[in-house]
Amino acid sequence: MSTPAIKLTGLRKSFGAVDAVAGIDLAIADGEFFSMLGPSGSGKTTVLRMIAGFELPTGGTVELGGRDVTKLAPFERDVNTVFQDYALFPHMTVLENVEYGLKVRKVPRKERRSRAEEALSAVRLEGFGSRKPAAMSGGQRQRVALARALVNRPKVLLLDEPLGALDLKLREQMQVELKQIQRDVGITFVFVTHDQDEALTMSDRVAVFDAGRIAQVGTPSDVYESPATPFVAGFVGTSNLLAGPVAEALVGRKGTFSIRPEKISLAEAGNPGTVAEVIYAGPVTRYVVDLDAGVRVTVVEQNQRTGTAALAELRGKPVHLSWHAEHVIEIPSEKENADAA
Ligand code: ADP
Ligand code: MG
Repeated sequence: MSTPAIKLTGLRKSFGAVDAVAGIDLAIADGEFFSMLGPSGSGKTTVLRMIAGFELPTGGTVELGGRDVTKLAPFERDVNTVFQDYALFPHMTVLENVEYGLKVRKVPRKERRSRAEEALSAVRLEGFGSRKPAAMSGGQRQRVALARALVNRPKVLLLDEPLGALDLKLREQMQVELKQIQRDVGITFVFVTHDQDEALTMSDRVAVFDAGRIAQVGTPSDVYESPATPFVAGFVGTSNLLAGPVAEALVGRKGTFSIRPEKISLAEAGNPGTVAEVIYAGPVTRYVVDLDAGVRVTVVEQNQRTGTAALAELRGKPVHLSWHAEHVIEIPSEKENADAA
C-alpha cells in the first residue's frame, strides 16, 4: 500500500475502568470504502471520534496521509464526519445548509454557491436547493447531510451509522447510492455500522470489531467465507459451529468448524436428524434441524419448487443433511487466537 489515507497504530481509549478501544492497528488505503462492523459497544464510534479528533487517545497514534495528527484539533484535520442524527438547520434552505460551512470559513459567495451546487449534484439533489429540509424525505435529508460534508472536499469522510434512522427499503436504496457517490467523488469513506448486510454490500474491506479489538480485517468475502474467529463466524451472517465431539463425529477430526446455512441441503442420504422448525421467508425457507450427532443447525434452501403446505408437513420429520467437505471452514479457536496475539 502507498501512504495510507489513515493509519492507526496501537490505538487505545479508556473511559475510567472501561477499555472502549483496546489496541488497534489498521491501515486504510486512499479511495477505499472501508467499514467498521461490530455489535453495539464494541468501540466503533470511539475509533471514529479519535480519527476525527473529538476524542484524545489514551495511547497510540492516528496518522492521516502520512502525518501524525494524534494531538491536533478536529478543524486541523482533513476529515469530515456525517452522524446518524444529522442536524440540518430547519430555517435555512437546502442550499444554505450545504453552504454554511464554507460561509463560516469565509469562502467568497460566488465560489460558495458553485461548490454547494456541485455537492448537491454529487448526491443527486440538483434542483432541490431552494427547498426547506422539512419539505424533503428522510433519504433526501440524509443526502443533504452528505452534501454538507462533501462540500468541504475532505480527504476522508467518516460516517457513523448514517442510515440507521431510515426504514429498510430506503436504507437498501441509499446503500447502493452511497457506494456510487463514493466511487464518483473518489474520497476515502470510513463507514460505521452494526448491520452485517450493509457492511458486506457496500465495502471494499471490512474490519470486524469485538470488544474494543479488531477480530478480522478483509474483503466482504474473506470475512464471510473464511471467518478468523468463532465470533466473526457468528456475527457476520448466520453460522453453524461444530466443535468438540460433534466436530469429531461430523467432520472426522478435532477442531472448531463453521458451515453456512446455504451450504447445507436436505438430501436423500447424509447426516441424519429431525426437523425442529420450518420458517418460510418468501424466496427462501429456513430449516432448524437437530442432528443425531448432537447439534442444532440451520439450513437455508431456495424456494424454487416448494409450496408452503408441503413445507409445514416436514416439522418433526426425520431428514438427512448433506454438504461438501470444502464448505466446512476450520476456525482457529479463541484460545489459539489469544495465543497468537
Ligand atoms: P459502538 O460505537 O461500537 O457502539 P462505542 O465506541 O460507542 O461503541 O463505545 C464503546 C464502549 O465505550 C462502550 O462500553 C461505551 O459505553 C463506552 N463509552 C463510549 N463513550 C464513552 C464516554 N464518553 N464515557 C464513558 N464510556 C464511554
Ligand atoms: Mg456507535
